[in-house]
Amino acid sequence: MWTRTGECNGCGECCKTVNIIAVRDATLEQHGNLEELKLYLSYRGIRVVGEDVEKNRLYYSLEVPCRELAPDHRCRVHLTPGKPLICYRYPWEKDDIEECGYRFVPGGGGRLGRQEEKSG
Ligand code: SF4
Ligand code: SF4
Repeated sequence: MWTRTGECNGCGECCKTVNIIAVRDATLEQHGNLEELKLYLSYRGIRVVGEDVEKNRLYYSLEVPCRELAPDHRCRVHLTPGKPLICYRYPWEKDDIEECGYRFVPGGGGRLGRQEEKSG
């Protein structure tokens, strides 16, 4: 169990990539092994950034910036009906973005609801 601490510093990093979770065993069966999968996906601009054997997951990252991300890292649709719910909720679990102002520390009771202050 983890608790989220910190706050959004508006760095905009989470708006520059799309992160996808894949089913690990089925994917590796299809491609043969992890290196083959990485090679195949690299030609499409997709990076395998992690795996969790216990949860049977692979983590992909695609460098596709959001079209609503302004040059000053502000979200153009912040506090409008056009902002996806997932953007308010991010991050709901540990991620690998160094610049992010949120951190996860061991312990329960973290706040994972809508983040009205998150503008990035
Ligand atoms: S909609 Fe806004 S918060 Fe969501 S990814 Fe795009 S710029 Fe970022
Ligand atoms: S949620 Fe984190 S990564 Fe995203 S803009 Fe805020 S500080 Fe940056």
